Amino acid sequence: LFAGPCDFIFASAKAGDLPPLGPPEIAFAGRSNVGKSSLLNALTNRKTLARVSHTPGRTQQLNFFALGGEPGAERLRLVDMPGYGYAAVSKEKVASWGALMRNYLRGRASLARVFVLVDGRRGVKPVDAEMFDLLDQSAVSYQVVLTKHDELKISERGAVVAATAEALSKRPAAYPEIIFTSSQTGEGIPALRGAVAQLLAE
Ligand code: GDP
Repeated sequence: LFAGPCDFIFASAKAGDLPPLGPPEIAFAGRSNVGKSSLLNALTNRKTLARVSHTPGRTQQLNFFALGGEPGAERLRLVDMPGYGYAAVSKEKVASWGALMRNYLRGRASLARVFVLVDGRRGVKPVDAEMFDLLDQSAVSYQVVLTKHDELKISERGAVVAATAEALSKRPAAYPEIIFTSSQTGEGIPALRGAVAQLLAE
């Protein structure tokens, strides 16, 4: 699934502008700088994906990629969601971000799960909780992926996992298992691939 091509297929810049439904979609969300680009590169074994999403003008879009086959015959779509929580962003941009996200999240039948990246050094912050709120309200299954595992001491890792589990415990749409990853060491990447493969098998 992750060894084959990973081609850019569609960019959604405004609400209502989405590609026709196709195979299952998995989306990746997270605050700016959480390590989303690095993780997507590690997950898909290539650099093109994040390069496309980081192209000027594309950072505020939902970027769709075909996985496990050529576009049109792909087994899975990966959706790179625009980063959030960036302090310098205008109110208008926040509003259009919200409209874009809500439009996609509400009633996208092929959306199997959103992986919400949370910085392992920081833990769950209010901007992350706002994303959880949106997903709970949209009744979209989501799973937290902690990033930057390599930046924490062994003794600190258990505490951040426990605090994250606690933050998710009463959230209806949250999948309880937390995956701790590092794009630098590869920690957690097989577990993340396994979670995706399991979604496809369901
Ligand atoms: P994005 O804004 O969420 O796409 O984040 P990036 O992937 O561009 O990463 C933001 C910063 O975090 C960069 O300086 C990366 O080098 C760093 N980073 C990303 N992943 C890791 C990781 O697993 N470990 C460490 N130590 N740094 C990381």
